[in-house]
Amino acid sequence: MANQSDLKQLNKSRILAHIRATAAQSRAAIADALSLDRKSITNLVSELIAADWLCEVGTQVKRRGRPGTLLALDREKHLFLGLHLSENLVQGVLINLHGEILSQQSRSFALPAGLEDIKDCLLQVYRRLSADLAVAPGAIGLVLPGVLDFEAGRILRSVNLPALDGLAPQLLLPETLPLPLFIEESSRAKALAELWFGLGRKQASFVAIDLGIGIGAGIVAERRLHGGSYAGEIGHVQIEPEGRTCACGNRGCLEAYVSEQRLCQELSRVLPHTLHSLRELQTEQLNAEALALLQEAGHSLGRGLAPLVNILCPPLLVLHGNLTRFDKVLMPALTQGLQEAALPSCLNRVRLEISQFGAEAAALGAAAIPFEQIFSLDNGFGML
Ligand SMILES: [Zn+2]
Repeated sequence: MANQSDLKQLNKSRILAHIRATAAQSRAAIADALSLDRKSITNLVSELIAADWLCEVGTQVKRRGRPGTLLALDREKHLFLGLHLSENLVQGVLINLHGEILSQQSRSFALPAGLEDIKDCLLQVYRRLSADLAVAPGAIGLVLPGVLDFEAGRILRSVNLPALDGLAPQLLLPETLPLPLFIEESSRAKALAELWFGLGRKQASFVAIDLGIGIGAGIVAERRLHGGSYAGEIGHVQIEPEGRTCACGNRGCLEAYVSEQRLCQELSRVLPHTLHSLRELQTEQLNAEALALLQEAGHSLGRGLAPLVNILCPPLLVLHGNLTRFDKVLMPALTQGLQEAALPSCLNRVRLEISQFGAEAAALGAAAIPFEQIFSLDNGFGML
């Protein structure tokens, strides 16, 4: 059973979550909505104001009774930093409690990269984001490439950045950084960005598909990320039993057909120039062979996502990644692949959308990792 202190923290989270969901509210309206007595609300709100989570933003004019002072989440006092370390790039965002991006930075590093190169790049992005701030960020969320051991707080293996193998993530940032550090994996961080700020905001359950050098799924069930680092390996669903060899050692995995690296290699053969990233490719540069390759990729993706549709039947699938820039070619082929391999009764319940976020998605999700402890009704309370 919860003790008094837990109960107090829980009610503070409820107040913050309610205001986040409904915008500015008076104390009386919050008390009514949360079925709490006015005295408790007054005390809890006073503490939340004193700790800079809430601020008074104006007066609510009413026909009868005393006008109520409106409360809103403070925009300035609690800031959160998200860093996304990918294969040759660090992207960072600084957000406030509203999820507004106050600044973003990115910086690339040359490959092959040693540990010092990676650390230097992370530090530069961190310094740029945190320079001249009136308050220090409350936490850092760091997205890392590779397989993570969340419990031990360790990077088990990073295929693209082997310098990170076995490393404790806090060693990537200066020892003097006095901030809680959370780690996350890319597709899960993108799912968090959708959950808090994107297409998943009003959705209890959904799946974010990360289409990059690797292909992963961030699974949200009942507004929580499902599983650890080993869940969501949709890229290693077999779509061709005797097909191409995959980096995992098996044959015919989805990733062996649709990963950005693989697609760039194939497109380079039919285009006049070598492609290193799908970002470099413009729609008007697509010739008939390139279009056919993208259609094939869409079809393979549909077949690869079909088991996920059949097993989870998520109400929403959100696609992330550079491949989605070619949605007009991709989506009809993807839908066809899904229709061939998924059960219609499941597929009819799934809405397919392309994320509205760009390259900042994972960093944004990482910055929001502490949000669960701030706004969630049954978790943590460490931040309040
Ligand atoms: Zn594989």
